[in-house]
Amino acid sequence: MSTSLLEVNNLELHYGPESSRVRAVNDVSLSIHESGRALGIVGESGCGKSSLSLALMRMLDNAVIQYSGSIKMEGEELMTMSDDEFRQQIRWSRISMVPQGSMNALNPVLRLGDQISEPLLYKEGPHKTTKKEAVARTNEVLNMVGLSEDIASRYPHELSGGMKQRGLLAMALILKPQIIILDEPTSALDVSVQAQIMNLLKKLKTDFGLAIIFVTHDVALASDICDEISVAYAGKIVETGTAEQILRDPQHPYTKRLLVSVPTIKSPIPPDFIPGSPPNLSDLPSGCHFHPRCENALPICSKQIPPVIAKGTKHLAQCWLLADKPLG
Ligand code: SF4
Repeated sequence: MSTSLLEVNNLELHYGPESSRVRAVNDVSLSIHESGRALGIVGESGCGKSSLSLALMRMLDNAVIQYSGSIKMEGEELMTMSDDEFRQQIRWSRISMVPQGSMNALNPVLRLGDQISEPLLYKEGPHKTTKKEAVARTNEVLNMVGLSEDIASRYPHELSGGMKQRGLLAMALILKPQIIILDEPTSALDVSVQAQIMNLLKKLKTDFGLAIIFVTHDVALASDICDEISVAYAGKIVETGTAEQILRDPQHPYTKRLLVSVPTIKSPIPPDFIPGSPPNLSDLPSGCHFHPRCENALPICSKQIPPVIAKGTKHLAQCWLLADKPLG
């Protein structure tokens, strides 16, 4: 069996204090098989998607009380690396990220080009190059994201929303990562600019072999670019499969509700919302965490964690309804 580009197994990220432990990432496993593939992580706000992104980048705050599991890249275990090794060998250079809401985090008093080239010029950084090489690479990534080279001399207030998002992509690409994590990359953009960014991401994926982890609440948007989709609920992955399997043959009741909550222009049926709200991650419901909101819940659902059932090649869902044995 070939080695996956990224293989995550049983990842946990919990925040303290112990008395109210927040299980933001709860026994998560996922993989990206090879370059040029896109994996969607889909779920409502508060389901732990952003925490999962931060866990993959090892960007952990002081409140973390548990960070465990396995993250392998091309077969190499990253969890055993020291923080220094991870910073020098992995973060930004092999796995990069555009965090949620980062358009507002651009430094207003620095020109875009200087912000993009910063990792190449930082004097103690592992990727230090000459000024000339940094300018050449900055121009290269500006071209990759569809911006002209003269944009490098502009300040953030001189850029439109779409230009800022392209600039952030350029920053994330400057060290030539193999994988890029995009956390809600188009949620602050209007629809026409959103479409342009989606087309750009598809181009980066196909033309440059970039692997993408696309984090979003919007399952329709994920299906536009992703080869595989993992559906997250309460810090867990409750269903995973190819985009086709998730869209055409969803198995988990939460996935089904997510799909019917998407408004479509053609359908005469109005979108249906998911009752209630996601649970507090420090006080999760027993058994299946979705049971208080699930219209299909069985008596066993509130008592025991459901098994993960395979419904086809690559298609897994965690729900008691899919189990063969008689249910209590
Ligand atoms: Fe609903 Fe039970 Fe399946 Fe959970 S395990 S999604 S509560 S039917």
